[in-house]
Formats: sequence, C-alpha cells, structure tokens
Amino acid sequence: MNEKELTKEVDKRRTFAIISHPDAGKTTITEQLLLFGGIVREAGTVKARKSGNFAKSDWMEIEQKRGISVTSSVMQFDYQGKRINILDTPGHEDFSEDTYRTLMAVDSAVMVIDAAKGIEPQTKKLFQICKMRGIPIFTFMNKLDRDSRPPMELVDQLENVLGIEAYPMNWPIGSGRIFKGIYDRYNHRVELFQPESNERNFLKLDKDGNIEGDNQLEDDDIYGDAKDEMDLISEAGNEFSAEKIKNGDQTPVFFGSALANFGVQTFLDAYLKMAPAPGPHKTLAGTEVEPNDENFTGFVFKIQANMNPHHRDRIAFVRICSGEFKKGMDVTLDRTQKSIRLSNVTEFMANTRENVKTAVAGDIIGLYDTGNFQIGDTIYTGKHQVEFEKLPQFTPELFMRVSAKNVMKQKSFHKGIKQLVQEGAIQLYTTYSTGQYILGAVGQLQFEVFKFRMKNEYNSDVLMEPMGNKIARWIDPEQLDEKMSSSRNILVKDINEEPLFLFENQFAERWFKDKYPNVKLTAKL
Ligand code: GDP
Repeated sequence: MNEKELTKEVDKRRTFAIISHPDAGKTTITEQLLLFGGIVREAGTVKARKSGNFAKSDWMEIEQKRGISVTSSVMQFDYQGKRINILDTPGHEDFSEDTYRTLMAVDSAVMVIDAAKGIEPQTKKLFQICKMRGIPIFTFMNKLDRDSRPPMELVDQLENVLGIEAYPMNWPIGSGRIFKGIYDRYNHRVELFQPESNERNFLKLDKDGNIEGDNQLEDDDIYGDAKDEMDLISEAGNEFSAEKIKNGDQTPVFFGSALANFGVQTFLDAYLKMAPAPGPHKTLAGTEVEPNDENFTGFVFKIQANMNPHHRDRIAFVRICSGEFKKGMDVTLDRTQKSIRLSNVTEFMANTRENVKTAVAGDIIGLYDTGNFQIGDTIYTGKHQVEFEKLPQFTPELFMRVSAKNVMKQKSFHKGIKQLVQEGAIQLYTTYSTGQYILGAVGQLQFEVFKFRMKNEYNSDVLMEPMGNKIARWIDPEQLDEKMSSSRNILVKDINEEPLFLFENQFAERWFKDKYPNVKLTAKL
C-alpha cells in the first residue's frame, strides 16, 4: 500500500467501544449494529458471550466460552464505506481491568443508558476513563418503548452527574405505551415509532421545524410537548460544537429503542459522520506517530490467557497505531529490543475474508503469544525506536488476602504471582507491618482467573480470603507516618513500592482526612 492508499484505508476506520451498565442494552444494540453491517445474525452471536454467573461457576465453564469470547472481543464490519471495529468491554462479573484497558485502544465511545434508570454506577466509571482520555463520547438513551424518565432529566443527569455538556440530536415524543417516535432536529424529520411496520417511517420538517403538510400528530399533546422542549433546547440549550465533541467535552445525545430497532440506524448514520478516524498516538519521548506513517506501530492493551494447561499460549491484543500489518512481518518489541515474527494471528469476527488480511491503523490484531508480550508493550517496524505512553494504572476496589496453601511450595507461588502481576492480570500489594500479600481487582472474575491460573500454570494452590470492598488511596511517601495506620485502614505498598491506604469505607477515608487535613490522598484512575 502506498501512502495515499494507506491514508484512505485509515480514514475509513471507526474504532469504538460501547460502555454501559449491565442490562442497559449493550448486547442488543451491538446485535443491531452487526445486522446493519451484514453480519448474519446467528442466534446469540453476541448473546452467547453473556455469562450467567462466571464468578460462582468453575473456571472450566469460562474456558468453554472462551472461543466465542476471543473472536467476538473485536467485531469488525463494513457499513456505508466505513470499516467499523467494535471492541467489547465485558460487564457483569467478567468486568476487569481489561475492560478499562480496552478503552485505551478506541478512538471514541458509545454510552448506552437505560432511559428508565438514568446513569448507573458502571457507566459512570467507564465514562470517567473515556473522559480522562479526551475521546468523543456519543450517548444513546435506550428503551424508550418503556416508560422512561423525562428526557430533560436524563439530559440534566449527563451534565450534573457526569459533568459533560449534552447536545440532543433528537428528542423522544413520549415513551412507553405512548411512545410516538423522535423529533429529529439533526435530520429535519420526525421518525415515527411504528413497531408493527417493517419500514422506517419519516415525516419531513419544514424550515421552521414544523411537520410538512397536514398531519394529525401536530394536534397531539405529546408531540406538542416534545416539540416545545426541543424548541426550548434549540433556543436556550448548548450550542453544537464539533470541537467540544472531538475533545469529549460535549456529547451528542440520541434516543431510541434497541430492542425495537428504533433510532439505532439514525444514531449509527450520524455517529459515522461525526466520529473520528484514527488519530496520532503520543510516545514516551513526547513525539507523535501519525496513523499513515509507513512504519507499522502498535501496542498491547490486553492479554487473554488460553486456559489449556498443555499450551501456555495466550493472545495479545494489539491496537495498530500506524502503518499496515502484514502477516509474517518482523517487528521489534521495544521492551526487549528483540525481533519477533508476527505469523500466527487470530481472526476476529468479520464479514469479509479480506478484513483479516488487511489491517491498518485503527484495527486490532490478536497475536498468539508464548510469553513474549506484556500489557502496554509497543511493537514497531523501521529503524527508529518507538515507545508509546504507558497504560494507566487503575484503582482496584475488591481485595483478597492471598497465601500459598502449601508452605513448602513458596517458590512456584512467588513465581506465579510475579508473572501474573507483570502481565496485568491482577494488582499486588504487600502490607507494611507484616509483608502479607493482598490482591486487588476491579472485578470478581480477576480473582477466579488468578486462582485457576496459579494452579494450572504454576502448580500452586492458593488460599484466598476475601476482604471485600476497600477504597485505595495513594499517599506521598514524604507525608507518610506509619502511625497513620489504624483499624480502619491498612497501610500497604504497591509493586512500585509506592505506599497507599486501603480504607474500610468512605467514613474511614473522611475520618482520616479530618484528622490529617494536610495529607494528600490520591486515586489512580
Ligand atoms: P446488556 O447487559 O447491556 O448487554 O443488555 P442487553 O442487551 O442484554 O439487554 C438487557 C435486557 O433489556 C434484555 O432483556 C433486552 O431484551 C432488554 N432490552 C434491551 N434493549 C431494550 C429496549 O430498547 N427496550 C426494551 N423494552 N428492552 C430492551
């Protein structure tokens, strides 16, 4: 591919993740998008990923689902001249640091909100990570076919709970049994909710925003209310700002129903016009790598271990940041400066064979790995060394005390822990007072995986004692006095030897802050 062709290919890419609280409708919307993309909907293509109860089940069950979960981690399809990559962000019990790290590999995010519930905790957490990256965030208010909260309230929540400016692209006309459709100021039309019809039905708006010709909807109070609100927003609401959207300071808001396939295509069409193609990536040295650079570069954002105990292979997910991937190409792994041949690559869910053959900046490739890669690794071709910025650390919320069941087998225990921590599978802390090990995770499943892998890959049985939720806050070592540790917090250090407190709860944290007003406590992401 020459530079012109590469630029053209890269500009076609739209790489995003859907973030939401469990049950808001992410799976349903994803299936709709795949349907538009011409990926034949096999019963439960995406549904099969939904786990039931991973945390309680034994790990073998997860292994059986693994095949599906790897291939559908990235869903690629072509739609209206664009090549779309949807990166899966697992929720429920399989929520883990991987979920967060996946957000490091996307160029924009779609936030799905259950319009009856408003903003829920997991949405908030995922939002904050997108916000920190400054990527565009598009909002889809879902389930309007059910009784919903007033749309004004939902939009207010975006501003007040999440702190992002909202720009409604369309506005719901009623909800639940009296849901009539959406008033679409972006496309100058009313889209009618007629679930019994297989077609999409529109009414055009004239230049004043009134329905063209005679239509009985004009006399409907519910329509009148929606139109009044839309008019009010047009006059007194936020101004549309492409610049703010680009920086993640304003979110375009769409309404609809994923289940009824209503408003999803309207959303997708607008989204594709506004969402960014892959942009430059910052390096540690402070330079930027342009996506159409002829040299291939990428970074590992996720490693999925294969659970087969006979092969210790894993799959390293690489976000391509520049250039073109070619099967069998040699790259340099920056951390070790070793050359690695990329010959064994996983295929993700795609609608054409061609997709997997050409991968350029914006695309994701899955590399079979026998232990070469770590989370955050940069790979590149060309003479110039490239190292992308480090992936951030996240603040775990769940903690377990961990020790080796068999005290005679300390060696394999330590080796296993060390490697799994390096790989980014889990966080490790040691207590100041006794040097005990404490594991930290953002989701319960990380512990299950840890335990299983310790046994299977390192032949080490571990004892794990749940400590529940804690609030982890780092403290400047200069300000630390070991006497600050009390029964309501545990003083530990992380793998970088940085000290932090694990607080019992918010009260304990507040109590600490009251007692030591000058001590600065910080969270990671
Ligand atoms: P996820 O956990 O976010 O992936 O949510 P799902 O897509 O699995 O949806 C959770 C439940 O909500 C399922 O029973 C869906 O059928 C239902 N659901 C999703 N979208 C809608 C919608 O637009 N309207 C209604 N009434 N139900 C929906």
